[in-house]
Amino acid sequence: MNVVENIQSIQRSIPEEVTLIAVSKTRTLDEMEVAYQCGIRDFGENKVQELISKYEGFHKDVNWHLIGHLQRNKVKYIAGKVALIHSLDSVRLLREIEKQYQNIDMKARVLIQINIGREESKTGALAEELEEIIQQVGECNHVEVVGLMAIIPRGDEEENRKYFRDMKMIFERLKAENHKNVSMEYLSMGMTGDYQIAIEEGSNMIRIGEGIFGRRIYNNNL
Ligand SMILES: *Cc1c(COP(=O)(O)O)cnc(C)c1O
Repeated sequence: MNVVENIQSIQRSIPEEVTLIAVSKTRTLDEMEVAYQCGIRDFGENKVQELISKYEGFHKDVNWHLIGHLQRNKVKYIAGKVALIHSLDSVRLLREIEKQYQNIDMKARVLIQINIGREESKTGALAEELEEIIQQVGECNHVEVVGLMAIIPRGDEEENRKYFRDMKMIFERLKAENHKNVSMEYLSMGMTGDYQIAIEEGSNMIRIGEGIFGRRIYNNNL
């Protein structure tokens, strides 16, 4: 496993317009530096504390993506620091993001995370909760929704494809509906095991961890 080769091989296999996010959770800054030297400028973290500590110690020209579940009491720590929050999934979280970004007089760029497989164990809004969130986004002055994100259920290729298609349909519908403070620019879906299928079905932002950095081991105090 070689990070440089992994990145080059992924970049060769995806269209230019697809953004590759290197998911660097549990990885050290030295490991991330290798990816940075390969030209990677988008890094994804799923924990607020880990993102903040890396933010302080890493290059300043990096786009940070908060891809994990975001608790309301932690929004204040990432406000102004992340390029994109991928995990807006409730009106209560929306209100907190609005409040914290109002405090710093900036606009948050967020994706709505959809629990497309309706899994109990997963966060994300259910399709029927979308309408209220979208409507409330229209009332915001400091939040801009720029797309959708999903983590699909484990399954075979055919099942993966179905969930990616369901996401793409919601994406296209919202785009056509033209809601205030909502633009459908990014469809964030696809990870190490399924990103090629995701791109075939319309993803333009993929989040790759193990496919870049190798197997993840969750015990290094980060
Ligand atoms: C960890 C993680 C990924 C990357 O998963 P890999 O299988 O390592 O590519 C993508 N998205 C989210 C939300 C994650 O938490």
